[in-house]
Amino acid sequence: MKKWFVVFLSLILAVCWLISAGLAEDIGTTGSNETEAAAPRGKVVILATGGTIAGVGDPGKVTGYTPGALTAEVLLWGVPEINEVADIEAIQVCNVNSDDMTAEIWLTLAEKINQIADDPEVKGFVVTHGTDTMEETAYFLNLTLKTEKPVVLTGAMRPATALSADGPLNLYEAVCVAASEEAVGKGVLVVFSDRIYAARTMSKTSTYSVMAISAGETGDIGIVRDGVVYLYESPNRKHTLASEFDVSGLDTLPKVSVLYFSVDADPELLRFAAEHSDGLVIAGAGAGEFSEKWIEIINGLTIPVVISSRIDDGIITPDNLLCKNTIAANTLSPQKAAILLRLALAKEPGISHESLGELFLQY
Ligand code: ASP
Repeated sequence: MKKWFVVFLSLILAVCWLISAGLAEDIGTTGSNETEAAAPRGKVVILATGGTIAGVGDPGKVTGYTPGALTAEVLLWGVPEINEVADIEAIQVCNVNSDDMTAEIWLTLAEKINQIADDPEVKGFVVTHGTDTMEETAYFLNLTLKTEKPVVLTGAMRPATALSADGPLNLYEAVCVAASEEAVGKGVLVVFSDRIYAARTMSKTSTYSVMAISAGETGDIGIVRDGVVYLYESPNRKHTLASEFDVSGLDTLPKVSVLYFSVDADPELLRFAAEHSDGLVIAGAGAGEFSEKWIEIINGLTIPVVISSRIDDGIITPDNLLCKNTIAANTLSPQKAAILLRLALAKEPGISHESLGELFLQY
């Protein structure tokens, strides 16, 4: 049933595309010659990975759909306006629910972008992605890409078949940012619901709203309106060309487990996770705190343990730490702290406590 619906949707999108392409041509022939004489616009490469933006469900409905069902090409048929912004090349990297994202896909994405970025015709990149783990992929790429060119992640909260699907406008705005001079050298960005976010500080903060992304107390860094990019801030922490993490040649990353503390949380989980991981991140209560029972076990661990918080806003400094053998995540969320720890361990498996502490102050 769903297969037929995808075919039907693809046909509808193709017809819409042909009609608007025809309209665009009409406008072009009646307009001034300046448009025809315009300089080459450069290319934006779209790397599609799946998510709700490529989701298909019952017509009109916003829940109960299959994410990662439509290809990049079909998504593009729905937004012909994108062709007015840049020449587009689409690459289907994978087509998954972003909860099935893996380190292997991250490494493939980083390798592809790093290779293609050398092409002088390419102005920037858009990665379409599920919103659930968008913040993790964005931060990973922010630390591992070796380019100044804009790399912009986007997605959607409503599948392509929903009433008022939010994917097409998000995709259009992401391409506008990826093609813009303003976004050069800003590290990896996320464009969602007209706003521009830095990879390090954004996260998913709503399970349902189309305003699903925010950056807590630091806020967004810009706005897009009718294709015009307004950037107000620049991320300060090290990223892309200034980052020391080089993942070329790697085919996997060390394993880091994230453990969430709550009242009466079983300390045996810590022991188990430590035995099966190269490092741990604790999502502590408040400023990275946990029970006496957890303190006792963590004090005896010999693998790196990074302390973050289950609270969205705020900072954890070395002075907050309950155990001397742990490292403060600063303002990184537990899931982003895990990425920095994985990269640090990939670079230097026996990294010292002091060097790890330094990294969490720099990135
Ligand atoms: N579960 C979906 C995903 O992350 C949700 C979304 O894209 O909004 O792929």
